[in-house]
Amino acid sequence: MAHIIAIASQKGGVGKTTTAVNIAAAIARAKRRVLLVDIDPQGNATSGFGIDKNTLRATTYEVLIGGRSLRDTRIASDYRVDILPSNMELAGAEVELAGLERRETRLRDALGEIAHDYDYIFIDCPPSLGFLTLNALTACRSVLIPIQCEFYALEGVAQLMNTIGLVQESANPALVVQGVVMTMYDGRTRIATQVVDEVRAVFGTALYETLIPRNVRLSEAPSFGQPITSYDITSRGAETYIALAREVMQREEK
Ligand code: ATP
Ligand code: MG
Repeated sequence: MAHIIAIASQKGGVGKTTTAVNIAAAIARAKRRVLLVDIDPQGNATSGFGIDKNTLRATTYEVLIGGRSLRDTRIASDYRVDILPSNMELAGAEVELAGLERRETRLRDALGEIAHDYDYIFIDCPPSLGFLTLNALTACRSVLIPIQCEFYALEGVAQLMNTIGLVQESANPALVVQGVVMTMYDGRTRIATQVVDEVRAVFGTALYETLIPRNVRLSEAPSFGQPITSYDITSRGAETYIALAREVMQREEK
C-alpha cells in the first residue's frame, strides 16, 4: 500500500505546491512509484509538472463529483510522476460536495482503486480548510505541513491542528502529522532562526532538519513546467528538496 501524504495549510503561499512538486519528483528519482493528486482548483501542481491545465479532458473534479475512475483520469508526466490533474473546474466541487453523500470520503474511495500502483501518493491541498482539504485529510495517512519562515509563521497552525483533530475523531482516526518543513528560510536574518526555534518548540522532532531556503531557481521552475531536479539540479533548491525527500522516505520506510 502507498504512503499517502497530504501537504496542507490553509495559509496561502507558504510553499505547499513547491514542496509537493519537488518532493514528488525527488522521490520518483529515488525509484519509487509516485502519484501527485492536485486537489487545488489553482492547478499549480498540474502546471508545475508541465501539464497544460486548460486542455484537460478530465480532472480531480470528475473523480470526486462524477465518480470517474482515477485510473482513467491520471496523466503520466515527463518526470516519472503520475498526476491527477486539476484546474478551475474543481472550484465548483467545494460547494457541490457540501450537498453530496460521502462528501468527505470521496477521494479516499477513489484512491482505493490505484493505491497498490504506487509507493507514495502526495496530495497538494488548496489554501483553505473546506471540503477539498477535508477529502485530502480523510484520504491520507499523514499530513506534511509547510511553514514559511516569517514573523507570523505559527498563525493559523492551531486552526489547522484543530481541523486535523476533528478528522481524527471522525473519518480518519489513524491520521498523524507526518512532519513539518520550514520553507523560504533565509539564514542571514535573525527572524528566520527565531521562527525555526519557535516551530521546534511546538513540533519537536516532527520538524524536519532540512530547511528549504529561499531560492530563485525554485520560483522560476514552475514557469518552465519542471520540478527543480530537472530545471536546475545544481541549485540549492534541488539539493535541499532531495535532502528533504530522503528524510521523508526514512521516516516513512523505517
Ligand atoms: P497556495 O496556498 O496559493 O496554493 P502554496 O502554499 O502552494 O500557495 P507555493 O505556490 O508553493 O505556495 O509558493 C508560493 C510562491 O512562492 C510561488 O511563487 C513559489 O514559486 C514561491 N516559492 C515557494 N517556495 C519558495 C522558495 N523556497 N524559494 C523561493 N520561492 C519560493
Ligand atoms: Mg499551492
